[in-house]
Amino acid sequence: MNLWSGFLDLLFPPKCPFCRALLDRGDQMLCPRCQMTLPWLVGPSGKRTLREHGSCYSALSYEGLVVEAIHRYKFSGLRCYHRAFGPLMAQCAADQRITAVDGITWAPLSRARLRQRGYDQARLLAQDVGRELSLPVLSTLKKVRNVPPQSQRENEGERRRNVAGAYAPDRKTDVKGMRLLLVDDVVTSGATLEECIRQLKLSGAESVQCLTLARAGSGEKERKN
Ligand SMILES: [Zn+2]
Repeated sequence: MNLWSGFLDLLFPPKCPFCRALLDRGDQMLCPRCQMTLPWLVGPSGKRTLREHGSCYSALSYEGLVVEAIHRYKFSGLRCYHRAFGPLMAQCAADQRITAVDGITWAPLSRARLRQRGYDQARLLAQDVGRELSLPVLSTLKKVRNVPPQSQRENEGERRRNVAGAYAPDRKTDVKGMRLLLVDDVVTSGATLEECIRQLKLSGAESVQCLTLARAGSGEKERKN
């Protein structure tokens, strides 16, 4: 710990992003209790097969303290949480033995939402995952249309239609022949990730696997973006 981070710790003592308990050391990502008790998805339970010939790996089940932490990260301006979440996702990628990846990318916010929030939460996670896994982080998609919030009444087909055409390729990056790992904060129906995969494959990506911090069950409703 250097002098500056020691000073910052005095001003803003580091807290566990999940339960907000004070952490003993600034280099801890979460408290020992959450490490023990959070709903971790391990082994096969952490993997879901998507329709667009891809797999989605998730570190945690989207429930309880995980929902609250992700809401604070996305909706209460606590962007610093990426410093804990990113390494947890990289750990998930290592535990799940995700291989054959040339670059990390993310499901981006629209420009309007980015202006409103000031940061793209999935991009911050992608940057951390890239750093931890020593892989390049690439901007490959743009969100060109905001999707209306998904309601509980909608079935899978409606969700899919809702998100169709919401993303376009970022022409600055050539993804031809690349094997990508697509990062997002939460996966619910998978419709968003599948639409991103579809676009990336249209742009010539060889394969796309997905990595999210959390996965919601079919019964839970995610607050979008
Ligand atoms: Zn905790």
